[in-house]
Amino acid sequence: MIRDRWSDKRYHTLDWELKSTFGEKVIKLSLNGGFTCPNRDGTLDTRGCIFCGEEGAGDFAGSSELSLRDQVQQQKAFLATKWPKAKYIAYFQSFTNTYAPAPQLDAYYREALAGEDMVGLALATRPDCLPRDVLDLLEQYAEETYLWVELGLQTIHPASAALIRRGFDLDCFQTSVQELRRRGIRTVVHLIFGLPGETREDCLETVGFVARSGVWGVKIHLLHVQRDTDLYEVYQASPFPLLEREEYIDLVCDALELLPPEVVIHRLTGDGNKKLLEAPRWSLDKLRVLSGIDRELRMRESWQGKNSRS
Ligand code: SF4
Repeated sequence: MIRDRWSDKRYHTLDWELKSTFGEKVIKLSLNGGFTCPNRDGTLDTRGCIFCGEEGAGDFAGSSELSLRDQVQQQKAFLATKWPKAKYIAYFQSFTNTYAPAPQLDAYYREALAGEDMVGLALATRPDCLPRDVLDLLEQYAEETYLWVELGLQTIHPASAALIRRGFDLDCFQTSVQELRRRGIRTVVHLIFGLPGETREDCLETVGFVARSGVWGVKIHLLHVQRDTDLYEVYQASPFPLLEREEYIDLVCDALELLPPEVVIHRLTGDGNKKLLEAPRWSLDKLRVLSGIDRELRMRESWQGKNSRS
């Protein structure tokens, strides 16, 4: 049965994918390159996406006050007690990590990848921040190292995209995914479940679209209302329904059943900031959410791709 491929999980985890590829533990180091975002610097908007906080949608990124080399060393030292022999992926997570001239990007990426134990590069960005010279650069990196590019789609529904102030349309996303694929660059898409006004069917329509898009990986987030965001103001003024834990677990399992088995699952629940998270507070117990997903898949006798059409 297909689920046996992923050892003890019923879905295709990033951990499993990296162990199968490299034969050993590979860990992401979350780095802060000091980038900004066109949705914040005034190019498209100054307010950012409605859910985006001070960290620019990065959970645990290093401090931009340290050089990249120092951020790498600091995180490696911290992780070495638990995994003394791991390999690492330089993960540029906060803000838009292809939003600078290509030579400058090249210098940043090169600095982060220094060292034999650095085996890959992961870049969170927007589909409207991939001009041709940057794509050319990324294509070179894809030949040299294990590269993936993350795009924050969140939803396929135009009304929700407008509400969250995403600032690009679905055509832009599709064009970028096709171009990245054509150049042999792995693409990961971020989705948010629980956006105001979206139904369960809306979320699953988005997942169905992603399942057909040919992306390499998916990150699923629960909508967090964080106090340093505009979403918090909206929520305070007019509270909207948020997903309950069991609803979310059920929805994630439906999504996994729709996604093809080869799609790598990078995340099924976010790491909310304990100090800033207003709601839903249940999401702070991440292990309970993940074990709930495992339990639900077992109860359903199901696995990733069970209802996939690919
Ligand atoms: S594109 Fe990313 S970094 Fe920019 S405002 Fe939106 S969530 Fe924040």
